[in-house]
Amino acid sequence: MAERKQVAFVGLGAMGWGIAANLAAAAKDGKIASPVLVWNRTTSKSEQHEARYGTRCARALPDVSQADVIITCLPTSTEVADVARELAPAMKSGSLWIDCTSGDPDSTKYISRMLKEAGITMIDCPVSGGPDGAASGQLTAMVGGDTNDVAQSVINIFAKKKIVRCGIVGAGHAVKAMNNCLNAAHLIVAGEALLALKKWGVQPEVALQAINASSGRSLQTEVRIPTQVLTRRFDYGFKLGLMLKDVRIAVDGLAACQEDRRGNSILTAVKKMLEQSVTAQGYDVDYTCVLRTLELEAGCELQGSAVPTAK
Ligand code: NDP
Repeated sequence: MAERKQVAFVGLGAMGWGIAANLAAAAKDGKIASPVLVWNRTTSKSEQHEARYGTRCARALPDVSQADVIITCLPTSTEVADVARELAPAMKSGSLWIDCTSGDPDSTKYISRMLKEAGITMIDCPVSGGPDGAASGQLTAMVGGDTNDVAQSVINIFAKKKIVRCGIVGAGHAVKAMNNCLNAAHLIVAGEALLALKKWGVQPEVALQAINASSGRSLQTEVRIPTQVLTRRFDYGFKLGLMLKDVRIAVDGLAACQEDRRGNSILTAVKKMLEQSVTAQGYDVDYTCVLRTLELEAGCELQGSAVPTAK
């Protein structure tokens, strides 16, 4: 980057904390201006981030308005729109907004139009890789909208695994929503299969040894179920309510064109299972707890000692 850009980060949650830490490291290396500004609704978290990584805690949201690049990582597009409405009037024309929230494509198009009126370019940049990927900078980014060199160089800092340009503004959010639908579907279907096998007398860790060397394997059978479910940890770091939000975006929004077969849609069944789980267990539990709902229905648990067979 020829001129070092001032970057501000909004939302130090499970994902934002690590992404902002990587930005702070890049600022120390001179890739972007130092310090990186961080704002969080709960100020004590941004104070902790400042103390740990050398970022600068913005106590009030308007304190970040003069940054060249604003990055948001908030629960939903509703919070992004609220922050954008508050910040846009004071922002510099020509600045850039990178939204790492897993947002709603239509809302993103609306926010993008609103920002454009203030001369601000928005791109959607949802990420995949979880809190561990955020901490290591090894995220996959799904980008919607027109990227330029500044956007590319900033996204490179935290999405070292892969950056995919998906299309127009909102396209990144559309792909992310479907990705998470597949994630949840794979988890639920694998949980159903393992519960059926357990009732039939096969222990889950034994079944996984075979499945993970066979064609039924997935990230869920190879990593997520062994590390989070069989161990009874259930703390991957992604809230069940946020997963439901993504699946609703995919099923109610993107798959609406499949109106004629929604009754039979597998993704609709995934959404119903997540809705049932949020009702029973709450928004904030880990998304892997969706298998607790299946276990309660089945009357048995997927306990075991299996270790992950892939990363
Ligand atoms: P968290 O719940 O851990 O963090 C949410 C963040 O948003 C916190 O900083 C919180 O502030 C802030 N926030 C919540 N409500 C408001 C509000 N009304 N106004 C301002 N700030 C608010 O979420 P994650 O970090 O897990 O997720 C963030 C986004 O990333 C979501 O869209 C999620 O779907 C997506 N994502 C999550 C992944 C994961 O594995 N966790 C993986 C990939 C994408 P406060 O500290 O004050 O509560």
